[in-house]
Amino acid sequence: MFGAIAGKYALIIYPVGELFLRLIVMTVVPLVFFSLFSSTAGLGDLRKIGILGGRVVAYYVITTAIAITIGVGLANLVKPGVGIRLEATGDIEKILGKVNQTSPSIVKTLINMVPTNPVKALAEGNMLQIIFFAILLGIAILAVKKENRDIVIKGSQGLSDAMINMVNMIMKTAPYGVFALAAGVVARHGVKILSSLMVYALVVIGGLILHLIVLLFFSLSLLGRVSPGEFLRKAWGVMVFAFSTSSSNATLPLTMETAEEKFKVPKYVSSFVLPLGATINMDGTALYQGVAAVFIAQVYAIPLSLSAQLKIILTATLASIGTAGVPGVGIVMLTMVLTSVNIPIEGIALILGVDRFLDMSRTVVNVSGDLIASIVMSRFEKGKKAGDGT
Ligand code: ASP
Repeated sequence: MFGAIAGKYALIIYPVGELFLRLIVMTVVPLVFFSLFSSTAGLGDLRKIGILGGRVVAYYVITTAIAITIGVGLANLVKPGVGIRLEATGDIEKILGKVNQTSPSIVKTLINMVPTNPVKALAEGNMLQIIFFAILLGIAILAVKKENRDIVIKGSQGLSDAMINMVNMIMKTAPYGVFALAAGVVARHGVKILSSLMVYALVVIGGLILHLIVLLFFSLSLLGRVSPGEFLRKAWGVMVFAFSTSSSNATLPLTMETAEEKFKVPKYVSSFVLPLGATINMDGTALYQGVAAVFIAQVYAIPLSLSAQLKIILTATLASIGTAGVPGVGIVMLTMVLTSVNIPIEGIALILGVDRFLDMSRTVVNVSGDLIASIVMSRFEKGKKAGDGT
């Protein structure tokens, strides 16, 4: 009796949650476009960045792809969402005007990344095309004469900051939106969804720990020549700060100080590698997006082919590059991963309830990944100098 009444109320407040979800989805396209464009343009003259820039970007992309592979692999292994079988209502997709199509092959996906009409890509929210165009535009603007270039870059940086502020504003309403969504989800699907959510959260945490171990042992010990014990001792303060703020950006000053003071990373390395890392390198976020995408697909009983899983790895790598280092943006960017393989976005309603803690945890891995990268890069630079005889 009580359950039935509570269930009725939960469904009445569900629209509050839907409103929250719409607000989040609203920010995705402009956020991705402006943040990617301004961070690519903000790199400055690509020739000046030279070998360090090429190396660090390659390092960031490879470690991110490894992170998502761990996430996707673990979610396939543990199958946290199998056995629930929800029906997608398609409400959010209808709002977005998206039609469910079958996911194209990976070659076709790569070809389709090039938009024939960028404005259409923006209007339709075709994320891979938007990313491709934003990065290319960011590179192209660097060759424009200084006075024109600077206005555009400053303007887009302002708009990118405005979008982040907008996400922060929307996130202030998260407790109400998440409560309404979670109540609606439980009322519709029963409490057994909660135990699956618990397993999902544990898979994300397990994956984050596994990735940190891989990074610590392979990257840091082999390439950076620093023992994991030493790293944990010296970087502990940074990790705790990242956990409590949920923000790579807010942790950045401390990350830079720790790199320079405690790990003796030269300033020219830390001041390039770390701000870039806080903007584009999000191993923890990428891993979480991999687990979340597979989990939601399992919940809605959507089979994921190998090419769909590769597409998740590709899109989540790009999505994590476009994720700003502030609280909660990882889940906003998850919508892009889901749409790329036609997984219902409404699945986000399921996982929002446990997102806060996962956000705190993934930020620790994001920031540790940046710090480890700066140590590895400073080793390479020292090696280069020794080789030069300088
Ligand atoms: N909070 C994360 C960070 O700042 C980004 C995210 O995954 O939401 O690194």
